[in-house]
Amino acid sequence: MSNIELKCPYIKKCSGCQLSNLDYPAQLSFKQTRVIKLMGKFCHIDEIKGMERPYHYRNKMQSAFFKKNGKTVSGIYQSTTGRITETESCLIEDELSNEITLACRKLFESFKMKPYNEETKSGFIRHLLIRRGFATNEIMMVIVTAEGKFPSSRSFVNALVKKFPEIKTIVWNINDTELFLSLGEKSEILFGDGYIEDILCGLKFRISPHSFYQINPVQTEYLYNKAKEFAELKPTDTVIDAYCGTGTIGLIMAKEAGKVIGVEVNGSAVNDAIKNAELNGITNESFYCDDAGEFMASLAEKGEKADVVITDPPRAGCSREFLQSLVKLSPRRIVYISCNPETLARDMQYLLHKGYRAEKIQPVDMFPHTRHVECVVLMTKVQK
Ligand code: SAH
Repeated sequence: MSNIELKCPYIKKCSGCQLSNLDYPAQLSFKQTRVIKLMGKFCHIDEIKGMERPYHYRNKMQSAFFKKNGKTVSGIYQSTTGRITETESCLIEDELSNEITLACRKLFESFKMKPYNEETKSGFIRHLLIRRGFATNEIMMVIVTAEGKFPSSRSFVNALVKKFPEIKTIVWNINDTELFLSLGEKSEILFGDGYIEDILCGLKFRISPHSFYQINPVQTEYLYNKAKEFAELKPTDTVIDAYCGTGTIGLIMAKEAGKVIGVEVNGSAVNDAIKNAELNGITNESFYCDDAGEFMASLAEKGEKADVVITDPPRAGCSREFLQSLVKLSPRRIVYISCNPETLARDMQYLLHKGYRAEKIQPVDMFPHTRHVECVVLMTKVQK
């Protein structure tokens, strides 16, 4: 590991990185201890996989804008206080995305696009979302505004694309909700195709504005390969990839399985998943747009079986309905990927009482400097 530690100049003002007062090895041991406390009683915990260089790892940057002394400035929205911390750079964000954000500050000013003010409900620019495919170097920009007219969009786009040829698409999105960093339903493509592509574990993936995509590609490859290793697939296996997002994990495993079924509640992610299967010539996976719990329950009701189930739920963990049906489907192996060790421990406890054994737990540092810790877990069915 590189022993050069960088220090963030915004440490006192920004609450984004809760652990940046600790050096990196101390952060890793803090996370390891947290996982051991919650799950050490279930089985041995492998040593957390840290990053060689834990900086500028994020492929997704979201910035807010405001006026200061008559000038447009940008920064990081603090969800805890609703304030924006003015920043010029960030140690965990992508550096090129940061440069584009700084260029946008100036452009918003010259095109007289005022930042939106939450209190007075006036102004236009709500936030800027930039995603970069680290493997392809393709950039997607989503300019999120309040209702209104986008002034001279063609000149705006030309100015940006000329300066940053990596920009492959620019989407204008209207967020008419109260939620600060969300995207609204209405979008217009100002440039390109409305999506970018990236490569993970040798496969191509399409990323569009609304769909989920892991934000740390270096660690994601490690995580997905670990999940695949834990799955120990056989060519006849039926695999379920639950909470599949754009299909990444299931598609990476599809070549080694008989068939794969992906389920995901977000329609635009499912569309991307279908495209992703096509892009990679994968024909043995089908995708369903449904609540994962309801979908599993309907499979269990029909008496279906699965050999391996991969589950990667949001922070709330798996629903009780999901877990009950999972047990009925009776897979040989369950590979559980989790971004919240508390709900993971709760769900493992349930499965331990229903005939499963905890075999392996691998923590992965997907979000250096923050308190978050990801884990990939293997549980196997106890033979009676
Ligand atoms: N496995 C994917 C996505 C994981 S994030 C990847 O690694 O990229 C969790 C996903 O669960 C998100 O795509 C979210 O839209 C989806 N999700 C949230 N609640 C859900 C539910 N009740 N049923 C199915 N999918 C759900």
